[in-house]
Order: sequence, then C-alpha cells, then structure tokens
Amino acid sequence: MQDWRYCTRPNLFHPCRRSLESLTSARRMSNNLLDDISHRRFNPLRGSWVLVSPHRANRPWQGQQEPPARIELPAYDPSCYLCPGNKRAQGQTNPKYENTFVFVNDYSAVKEEQEEYNPNDDSPSLASLLLKAEAVTGKCYVLTFSPHHNLTLADMSPSAILPIIHMWTKIYTAHLSPSSPLAKFASSTHLPPDAPSHHSTQPNQQFRWMQIFENKGAAMGCSNPHPHGQIWTTSSVPEEPAMELENLKKYNREQGGAHMLVDYAKMEREKCERVVYLNDTFMLLCPWWAVWPFEIMILPVKHIRSLVDLTSLEQMHLAEAIAETTRRYDNLFETSFPYSMGIHQAPLEGTDEEIECSSLHLHFYPPLLRSSTVRKFLVGYELLSEPQRDITPEQAADRLRKCGGELYRRKMS
Ligand SMILES: [Zn+2]
Ligand SMILES: [Zn+2]
Repeated sequence: MQDWRYCTRPNLFHPCRRSLESLTSARRMSNNLLDDISHRRFNPLRGSWVLVSPHRANRPWQGQQEPPARIELPAYDPSCYLCPGNKRAQGQTNPKYENTFVFVNDYSAVKEEQEEYNPNDDSPSLASLLLKAEAVTGKCYVLTFSPHHNLTLADMSPSAILPIIHMWTKIYTAHLSPSSPLAKFASSTHLPPDAPSHHSTQPNQQFRWMQIFENKGAAMGCSNPHPHGQIWTTSSVPEEPAMELENLKKYNREQGGAHMLVDYAKMEREKCERVVYLNDTFMLLCPWWAVWPFEIMILPVKHIRSLVDLTSLEQMHLAEAIAETTRRYDNLFETSFPYSMGIHQAPLEGTDEEIECSSLHLHFYPPLLRSSTVRKFLVGYELLSEPQRDITPEQAADRLRKCGGELYRRKMS
C-alpha cells in the first residue's frame, strides 16, 4: 500500500509527516474520545451543525461486496447529445471539438429575457409578509469535459483537466462586472492563447452569481454519462453561497482581517488528521464538519478569491487536486463514484468586502457510504432535525489517503 506521506512526487515537501509524529498523547486522547462518543460538530462556513455517531459505524454489515465495476461505454455514442458532431434536441449540431465545448443549455432553469415581475402591493398585509417572491434572470450553460463519451474526470490526467479549468475561468471572466476589483486581473488571466471560445458566453446583462458544478452518476440524477458540467449564472446570490459569504465576511471583520478558509487550511495542514492530499497550492480534506460520508473540500493554502487569481502553475495544481479527488473516489469502492461537485468563489458583482472576503474552494458531495450500491440518504432525522453521519471525517480521510495511485480500472485491463 502506498504511503501518502511519501508522495509519488518526491520533490514535494510534506509538513504533515512531522506534524503527525509530533502530536501529543493528550491530543490523541481527545481525538480518540470523539471517535467513540456521539457529538455535534459546527460548520463555521454555513453556520450549521452535524450530528456525528461514530459508534454506529461499527455495526455489522450484512451486505455483499460487489466486484470491481468495469465501464463498458463506447468512446463515441451516436445517440448522445454531447458527443462531437451530434445533433442536440433543438436541432443544433455540436462542432467536432477537441477538448471542451460550451453551449447555452437547451432547457435552462433561468432565462435572460422574461416578463417583468413587480409586486405592486406595498401595503402592510399578511400576504406581503408571508408570500414573498422575486424574479430571477440568468443564463445556463453546459460544458463538456472531453470529446470522449466514456471518460470521467477520474480517467483524465491533470493536463487533460486543465482545458476545463481554462474554460471555467474564461466563462467566469466573461461574466465579471467591470466594476469588480477582479476585473483588472481578468485582462491578465492566465489562459493559453488557443483556449477555446464561444460567442454564446457573452451575457446581455450583469448577473450577480455564477455556479459552476458537475452532477456525476445516475445516483445524483445525471442521465447522460458523457463527461460534462453545468454553469448557471443568476441575478441573485443563491442560498448556499450567500450563507457562506455572510460567515466569511463576519469572520474577516471579527478576526482582524483574517480569512476563515486560509486559517482553516493552515490549521488542518498542521493537524493532518483530515488531509487526504496536498500540493503546493491546494489541499484535499474531509472537513471537520462534513455531512456526507466521504465529503471532500479542495482548499487553497493561501487566499485566492476566484479562478482569475490563479497563475498558470496554480491552475495546474487545481487540475492535479481534481484528478486526485476523483481517482481516489473511484478507487475507494472500485466503481465510478457518483457525486455533486461545485466551485464557490467571489460573486460576479459585489461590494469590495464581498469580493475580498471570498475564498475559492470546491465542494464534493458524494452519496456512497459502504460500497458501490449502499448509499446514504438524507432522510428522517436529517430532514427534520439536523444532518447525521456515522463514520468520522478522520476515518473517511484515512480511507481516502490509502486509495491513491493508479485508477483501479486501468489495473483490470
Ligand atoms: Zn457522448
Ligand atoms: Zn462553499
């Protein structure tokens, strides 16, 4: 078994190794206790709690162990609406693209043009108090990650993932408010001159938020296996990022200008209990407050507000971090691991404080619990009270650390 501390990149300095050895026995004791007793953990990013019940993770497991899953898909599927050269639902034909391709979603959840909505009832009434609504306009894109129908991010090398990061950055840049402090960096954004472009990525109006995400696998409601993600821009900041932004601003004000996620990454790097992988710019970790069994955050080790802040080397480090996460996920249960993944970063338009307090980071929310067929559902207590998990994030990180290396499918062929 490969020891993650002696990484495959021999020139990489791993402060974790020394920190692990220098943990005091008192510290180990306190951790051991939380390995056994039920407790709640606080998520300062959302301002929410999760119930952890580690003693339940030792319950006997009656299920069977599935054999490693082979992926039997063709590299090109004539019936796929994302494959190069194919026709989409509304008649357009995809170009014969070489790495990524972006187009406006044929079934967008929000639209740029719609009828104005002006609730003109200003009078104080129960209805105006309890039945609030506001219009949302926006634009939704689909971004393919590869022309090959049968690949996933886990199959792709960091250099094959890099064009996706370039495209995310390009689309984010095209939607940035000219008044954003990030706009002046955008002109010098590190993109290769041949980064693919598409005329549809110019918005007609200024939107506030851009959500870049990927749903992978039927378990996450994704119907097409062709590797692709989505990009939704909206006129308002949605719930999750709005909540995070409030907490990031509050922390910054209360901690003398410090950034929560930079402080958090620094502390996790010293403790090494939840870190799965580390390179010079990013770390993968199972956060202290993780809700999903094998939830991962990709965090920069320094303050990075958005994709436009990344140098070309840092873009490559992000590609490495994404490759490490998705490959470890697939290796964990030797299956194509389902997840929802998304990027949080600075809003497209916001106050200087909002932009400055934003921290680029990625969330991976995977539903699998014990095998390729046993998934966790957020039901019952979780819907009615608060989220709950059995294995601790420390135990999850330990398992993910041990499944680096080559993708299991390659070893089978
Ligand atoms: Zn396809
Ligand atoms: Zn976030």
